[in-house]
Amino acid sequence: MRRPLLLNGFMGTGKSSVGRLVAERSGHPLIDLDSRIEQKAGATVQEIFATRGEDAFRELERQELLAAMREHTAGSGPPPVIALGGGSLLRREVRLRALDEAVVVTLYASPAELLARGVANGRPLLAGADPLEKINELLEARSRAYTEAHGRISTDGKTAEAVASEVIAVWLRDPIAVAADERSYVVDVGARNVLDSLSTVVASAPVILLVSDDNVFPLHGQTVLAALSASGARVTPVLLKAGEQFKTPAAPAEIWTSALAAGADRKSIFVALGGGVVSDITGFAAASWMRGVRWVGIPTTLLSMVDASVGGKTGVDFGAAKNAVGAFWQPSRVLCDVSLSATEPERGHISALSEVVKTAIIGDPGLFELLEAQVGATRQREPQLVAELVRRSVRVKARIVSLDERESGLRATLNLGHTLGHAMEAQGGYTALTHGEAISLGLVAALRIGEKLGVTPVELSERTIALLGQLGLPIDLAAQPLRKAIDLVGHDKKRAGARLTFVVARALGQVETMSLELDGLRALASELL
Ligand code: NAD
Repeated sequence: MRRPLLLNGFMGTGKSSVGRLVAERSGHPLIDLDSRIEQKAGATVQEIFATRGEDAFRELERQELLAAMREHTAGSGPPPVIALGGGSLLRREVRLRALDEAVVVTLYASPAELLARGVANGRPLLAGADPLEKINELLEARSRAYTEAHGRISTDGKTAEAVASEVIAVWLRDPIAVAADERSYVVDVGARNVLDSLSTVVASAPVILLVSDDNVFPLHGQTVLAALSASGARVTPVLLKAGEQFKTPAAPAEIWTSALAAGADRKSIFVALGGGVVSDITGFAAASWMRGVRWVGIPTTLLSMVDASVGGKTGVDFGAAKNAVGAFWQPSRVLCDVSLSATEPERGHISALSEVVKTAIIGDPGLFELLEAQVGATRQREPQLVAELVRRSVRVKARIVSLDERESGLRATLNLGHTLGHAMEAQGGYTALTHGEAISLGLVAALRIGEKLGVTPVELSERTIALLGQLGLPIDLAAQPLRKAIDLVGHDKKRAGARLTFVVARALGQVETMSLELDGLRALASELL
């Protein structure tokens, strides 16, 4: 296990007893957070609440939790199992930190079962004439704190041993969480066996549509059909024509036609097996079918694993307008099995590495150093290494999307290199350069412009450009029709004095947005010619 395990949930759901079992079986240490706080403070939780108030208690709790999570990274043994208090992750800032640095599993029980377990006895929070009503009220108020998790396990009618086994299975999978309230989901990443959990993920669906394209389905369709078959659901394959040129409104309509024929109701699940084109189309078809059904992503290209798998952006192109018709619709689960991307054509793999470099600059200096140290193995797609690159990229994007699901601010930093990159992709008619190649050139431009703005150190530009080049990506702006691309920058903002948000890098792991006048940006870009 790489990260600490946090057991979250309402009082009486068995966090301590399940925690004890999990710790025993795994051989990892157990920390009971409340006991630790009581020991340190020399007072019971109730006393701290009564004398210092809830805010002071939550602050103590936060400090103890962060210290406990950090202990093992400081080299003092294996990551612990931490049984939390019922309100430990109420503050979102603490919750997001926990979701990033640990595996969080919420244990559930129905209010009636909680009452039957005697949860109201001696607990001041549940005192009153109608404890069931109190439980319901508190569960409602804490719903988000319990929903945003790596795993949610019902304990109703189960032994602590059975619950512990389920908890350990989540801990072993070590998924990455995208926190988005009740739309939260997890991304599993690995070099093999990732699809083993697929039948459980789709277990409740009577009808499944397996959407793929005519390149990917012949290569991997049978593997996925076999993994789905264990669920017992009826599976209808839907084969789309491969390629961006078919990412049109006709594509989701094909899926809806199959959905209608298969009798797909609101409980059905759409599974997207393919690159970003298949997942964008399938996600959009799922967002609209019966006003929204669940969908599961099984990305098969490096780009779709590191980028399209997180964030819930779905849609299709409309004429010349890329991704013009779409919806934010989060998947229920994403399974990134890098063995599926082993068959991706070389150019696609290399192209996607520009998004990995971009993500490293935005939020993971260690990932940048890993790429620098492992250029050869990265290009040759050593599976464990690719899994690590995907895992770390997804983690950075998940962290950002969790803070800004609807792209109202922070998420814009993910557009580092995209302003000029998109323009270069467009000037090539979307065929001369792949998206990733265009982003590589866009990164070069963004770094050089950052230098001119006095933000980006020249060493960072040089280091990044060297890495992109070694990875096999284009870096020579002079070899591109940059003039034509500059004319296309912000072509939707033709008004005089129009501004746009431009992302600049200050250091590895430190990027920021600047509002620039379009004309000013174009002038700076022209100096790169
Ligand atoms: P793609 O889906 O077109 O796949 C590229 C090609 O590789 C296709 O011909 C496909 O059939 C083939 N292919 C896919 N997997 C394969 C495999 N394992 N073996 C052999 N061939 C395989 O392109 P892409 O690069 O994956 O994604 C690009 C698309 O993703 C664009 O439409 C872009 O808008 C979208 N995208 C979306 C998001 C998002 O957040 N929703 C993010 C990034 C990109």
